[in-house]
Amino acid sequence: MKATYIEHKCKNILHKIDNPRLPFNWGANPYRGCLHSCIYCFARYTHSYLELDPEHEFETTIIVKKNAAKILRKELANPKWKKELVNLGSVCDPYQPIERKYEITRDMLLEFQRYKTPVTVATKSSLVTRDKDILAEMSRDTYVDVVISFSSINDQIRKKVEPRATSTQKRLETISELRENGINVGVLLMPIIPFLNDTENEIEELFKAVSETGANYVIPGILYLIGSTKKRFFEFLDKHYPELVEKYKSFYKSRSPPKSYNERINQLFRHYRGKYDLHKFTPGQWKSKKDTQSVLDHYVQKK
Ligand code: SF4
Repeated sequence: MKATYIEHKCKNILHKIDNPRLPFNWGANPYRGCLHSCIYCFARYTHSYLELDPEHEFETTIIVKKNAAKILRKELANPKWKKELVNLGSVCDPYQPIERKYEITRDMLLEFQRYKTPVTVATKSSLVTRDKDILAEMSRDTYVDVVISFSSINDQIRKKVEPRATSTQKRLETISELRENGINVGVLLMPIIPFLNDTENEIEELFKAVSETGANYVIPGILYLIGSTKKRFFEFLDKHYPELVEKYKSFYKSRSPPKSYNERINQLFRHYRGKYDLHKFTPGQWKSKKDTQSVLDHYVQKK
C-alpha cells in the first residue's frame, strides 16, 4: 500500500492525558496516523482533526513530527517538569515502518533518558528491539516498560485484522529479546474480537504463549466499537466475514458487547492470568495513579 508522509514541525510534543483509568498523565506521539492499519484502531478519529478521512487516510497519510525530539528536550528541561510517567505512542505506533528512516522515536528516548523521565512505550513492532541499548540503560537508571499488544495467536486472523503489523511469532520473539536484556515488558491481549478469536482455547493459547516469553504482566480487553472505527470495522466484516454482519449489528447496539458476554470473557481472563502467573505489579498494571507513582518513585530514587 502506498502511503504519503507529510513532514511537520510541531510546537509541543508532550500532551496531557486526563483519564483516571490510565496510569499516566502524559503522552507523546512522533507520528500521526499509522501504517499498521489495524482494523479496530481506536485512534482513527484523530485524523478527522486534520480534515482527513479517519476510516481510510489514517493508514495512508502519516504526519511525521520531524522536530519532536528537539521540542521534547525543551519541555523536559523546563524546571516545572516533574518527571512523571509518559506514554510514548499514546495514540499512534511510534515504531511503525517509517521510524526506520527518521529515527524520531529513538531520539526521543535519548531525551527521556537524559532527563531521567520514566516512559511506557506502546507498540506492535519488532523494530523496538533496535533501541534495546537505550531501553536497557533506562531500565537500570530510571524506569521503562515496553507494552506490546496482540489480538490473536492465529496469524491468519492477525493478517486480516492487523495487516501491516509484525507477525504474531515475531512479536513473541520481540518480548523474549527485550526481557533477556532486562527490560520490563507488558502485554495487551486485545482486542478479543467476538466470533473471531474468542474461544477458550484461543484465549488460553494467547496467555500460554505470552507467559513463555517472560513478559511481566498482561492486560486483556474486549473489542469496543464507536464512530469511525465502527464504520471501518463493518466495512471489514462485509469484505471478509459477511456472515457475521447481522450478528454484529445485534451484538454491538452500544459500544460494547452484551454484559453476559463480557462477564464470560472476563472470567476467562481472570482464570488464565492466575494459571500463567501474569499478575506481577508494575506501573503498567495499576490499581490507581497513586500506586503507579509510588512504584516510579522507588525506581527513580534508586538511581
Ligand atoms: S498499531 Fe496501534 S496505532 Fe497503529 S493502527 Fe494498530 S492499533 Fe492503531
